[in-house]
Amino acid sequence: MSRSNTLDYLNNPSPQTLGRSPLEWLNRLQRPTVVRVAGRDPSRTRAMATLLHGNEPSGLFAIHRWLLEQHTPEVNLLFLLGGVQPAKIPPVLSLRQLPGGRDLNRCFKEPFEGEEGAIAQAMLAELQTANPECLLDVHNTSGTGPAFAVTITNDAAHQALASLFTDRLIMTDLRLGALMEYSEQEVPTVTIECGGAQDDLRAPTGVRRAGSVCLTI
Ligand SMILES: [Zn+2]
Repeated sequence: MSRSNTLDYLNNPSPQTLGRSPLEWLNRLQRPTVVRVAGRDPSRTRAMATLLHGNEPSGLFAIHRWLLEQHTPEVNLLFLLGGVQPAKIPPVLSLRQLPGGRDLNRCFKEPFEGEEGAIAQAMLAELQTANPECLLDVHNTSGTGPAFAVTITNDAAHQALASLFTDRLIMTDLRLGALMEYSEQEVPTVTIECGGAQDDLRAPTGVRRAGSVCLTI
């Protein structure tokens, strides 16, 4: 593992590095972590962020399972695990952010103050370097409900990206410093809210939680 001032890096992690379960892996992670997996076409990269909120584990679980399977993806993949530190505080995966800390998904804009601001700035720098052709940010809602996507840009590219995960797409004009505002860099970017942390695919459908979106993304 290599380190910068703010981030740790894992390149093509082995099953031994990952541990047998996502909780074992989380136990081994110390700080916000960048995971890179080399693709067959190394000239292209796609990115996925998750765990920006330490109590929203679905993306961590998905990445862990996928990495354990040791696939070689078509293009390079860049995974960004943001809120490792709040997620590790016992009981694990229960805190949205550090006690006294800021909401990381409100920090992706200047002036990048404090510890969370530094993490957000470092994550944005990774994205600028990798220049991904799309970016997902995977969250869970509080409570239960069906999956939906959130975007600030409702064009064909964003709709196509969201449709890989859900047929519900909500557009917002709010600018809160959320990672999905990376869409302004001309990179299709959507937030995927995969239901509540306790939900599985049998989660009740037909419930719209648009009113809570701006509070939970
Ligand atoms: Zn969230």
